[in-house]
Amino acid sequence: MQRKLCIDSFHARVTQEGDEAKVYRAVGGQRLRNLDPIVLFDDTDTTEGQYPDHPHRGFDSVGYVLQGRILHEDCTGEKGAVDEGGLAWMTSGKGVVHAERLDAKHVEVVTVWVNLKSSLKMCEPQYQEFTATALSSVQDMGAGVQVRILAGTALGVSAPTISRTPTLFADFHLTPGAEISQPIPPGWNSLVYILEGSINAGTGQLGPKHVAVFSKDGDTLQLHAETASRVLLLAGQPLNEPCVQYGPFVMSSRAQILQAYEDFHLGRNGFERAQTWRSSLFSPLC
Ligand code: MN
Repeated sequence: MQRKLCIDSFHARVTQEGDEAKVYRAVGGQRLRNLDPIVLFDDTDTTEGQYPDHPHRGFDSVGYVLQGRILHEDCTGEKGAVDEGGLAWMTSGKGVVHAERLDAKHVEVVTVWVNLKSSLKMCEPQYQEFTATALSSVQDMGAGVQVRILAGTALGVSAPTISRTPTLFADFHLTPGAEISQPIPPGWNSLVYILEGSINAGTGQLGPKHVAVFSKDGDTLQLHAETASRVLLLAGQPLNEPCVQYGPFVMSSRAQILQAYEDFHLGRNGFERAQTWRSSLFSPLC
């Protein structure tokens, strides 16, 4: 066993603040632009945020609902509702237009964008949705660890999620003094985001909204809970490819970004339904 070292830690910065919403950005901001293959990690706490029809291409958009309920519709015909503890894993591939609407007074959701390798960027879109109970949960009472597995494998149990980019995503509840010793393949990037409590990743105590980033070297991520804690662990196999993100598209070059805008506006190469499709979530009722 070789421990992955905590190489950076910081308080996730609020990128949008208002009466309605606070967005804590762990990845995708100035502090940590990218953690290949993770392009974005946002913790959004909102009472008003609405997300009318908009396009995506080239990556997986993941939503994990911590509180409240989110309604989803996309141009492939998928409709869904994700409640507390539920997960929406949407592969945008060559093109998706979707809409999300809050269906509760207060919603907290973690949004993760996982990049797709260039050979998969133009794949068929896919929407996967799991309720809290459909996701595997496992307890190690002796160690004081309970985990809900959103993608990949933890404590020997695998999530039902298909992730085209190899990814581990898990939600850990820890009792005071509990230890996590999570295997992660050498070479993968990984981070821990603290939702509640106080965690030691080897470099001192970290509280809520803090991010700890770990070395690619090593095969085991270790954490110690100082108090009762809840943390999200996210790890992925780096693509080691050029990554150009602009607006709702994540591609391999600037030319591909321009192509995505053109395809979206002209309704082609994956956006055939973009010009005529309208979500019912935001359409007038008349
Ligand atoms: Mn979206």
